[in-house]
Amino acid sequence: MKHHHHYLTLNPALYHRQDAMPLDNPRLMHFNHALHETLSDSPVDKVDWRRVIGADNAAFPNEFQPLAMVYAGHQFGQWAGQLGDGRGLLLTQVFDKQGKLQDLHLKGAGKTPFSRFGDGRAMIDSTVREYLGSHALSMLGVPSSNALGCVVSDTPIMRQQMVRAAALLRVSDCHVRLGHFEWLAVYHPELFGEFSYQMMAAYYPKIDRYDIDEFLRQVCKNTAKLIAKWQLVGFSHGVMNTDNLNITGTTLDFGPFGMMERFNPSWINNHSDHHGRYTYQNQPTIGHWNLQRWLACFELLSVKDSVMADCLDAYKTTLHDSYDEGICQKIGLPKDSTSLSLAYEFVGLLKTYELDYTNSFRALAALLDDGCAHEQALLATLNDELRHQEHGWERWQDWLARHQAHMRHTTSTQESVQKIRQTNPVYILRNAMAERAIQGALDDDFSEMARLFELLSRPFDVQSIAVKDDTTPTHRHDMTPVSCMS
Ligand code: AMP
Ligand code: MG
Repeated sequence: MKHHHHYLTLNPALYHRQDAMPLDNPRLMHFNHALHETLSDSPVDKVDWRRVIGADNAAFPNEFQPLAMVYAGHQFGQWAGQLGDGRGLLLTQVFDKQGKLQDLHLKGAGKTPFSRFGDGRAMIDSTVREYLGSHALSMLGVPSSNALGCVVSDTPIMRQQMVRAAALLRVSDCHVRLGHFEWLAVYHPELFGEFSYQMMAAYYPKIDRYDIDEFLRQVCKNTAKLIAKWQLVGFSHGVMNTDNLNITGTTLDFGPFGMMERFNPSWINNHSDHHGRYTYQNQPTIGHWNLQRWLACFELLSVKDSVMADCLDAYKTTLHDSYDEGICQKIGLPKDSTSLSLAYEFVGLLKTYELDYTNSFRALAALLDDGCAHEQALLATLNDELRHQEHGWERWQDWLARHQAHMRHTTSTQESVQKIRQTNPVYILRNAMAERAIQGALDDDFSEMARLFELLSRPFDVQSIAVKDDTTPTHRHDMTPVSCMS
């Protein structure tokens, strides 16, 4: 691995150097060999990753210089003041094989000066969810942190009862959050300019080094592209505080996230989100709100109000354009006004009749190619559900006829079916799947986790290791919000 701990070159006010707090008897729950290969030239390196993820400082290579970052943020719409890495440490930064800088961040590594009332640890439940969730998103082509591996240990931690601590080695292209800038603006405004230019050079090297306006615009656009992808794939982050969004537009900080199953855009998947601030349907607006908070900090660099307004406009336009392009692809059509109406109508059908978001899109492939038994079964289920809904069948048949007609005018069946299969996964991480992996892990049985990891590695391909539950939506009445306890 080629180390380049860039963060250590920044002003020491921005971090706290410290050791990790070792876990007792760490056992690997899973290791991501494919991700490891993207980081290291040799398939087996000398690092004992089980011990590293178990926060054993003695196993850390010399290049590791762990540090906790400080940042601030707005949480649930309120200024929360100083936050920071309360249970995670940036161990090092490395160049991956493509020459891109990647952070190795150990989550659950023990207390830091920013732990406030927390114990610096992570539960098995949230660790398994982040491990599988970040892998699933990455494999779906959504920019996301990922994880090299995770462990369970015998270290006891107190939640509602005593449970065992776990840890995860997160890999992400960036841990610099919108909240980093908010922290500097409030607590160290004299360092704000230097930090901003350093971040611009590190993460946006193609931008002219004095063009701060362009930096702001690019961050807004990348955030927009990310949120458009979340919307398209049906991902609900659940806790979009400004400290949980980074400046490269990569999904970070998996907490009470959820994938859309039966399509309900106002579904609250975060148990602590009492007013539904972070529902799926609110994500585009919340992204805008967060960026507004972030942009306001740049008054310190005399960025004009008109530039900030431009950046927010660029956010809106980019989000709409990316979403519209993607939603047309999902129904197998090139983007034009008719395709867009058809796509929005289809999403409307899913919402009205609470149909499964993922399966219903994928079922469209069966209309054009009857060669895949799995897709035929999805279509049969969709037909069946709509037949029993008021006006469901008529609306569906009418939509189908117009979809067919427009397809014939604009593209070939082959191209259309290919688009549908490339953009609509067969497998997503449904809540019940994550729960099964967690139940196994709590009993020291990691086989379900391994199976799901495999399945989600190729989410667009029908696979023989799948079981029926992997593609069965949770029943409306069984949907429960995910607890924030982690
Ligand atoms: P999150 O909502 O998970 O992004 O966390 C918000 C803040 O709480 C961050 O500063 C975390 O580092 C901190 N935090 C969360 N859980 C713990 C914990 N168990 N111990 C210490 N700090 C924590
Ligand atoms: Mg966070």
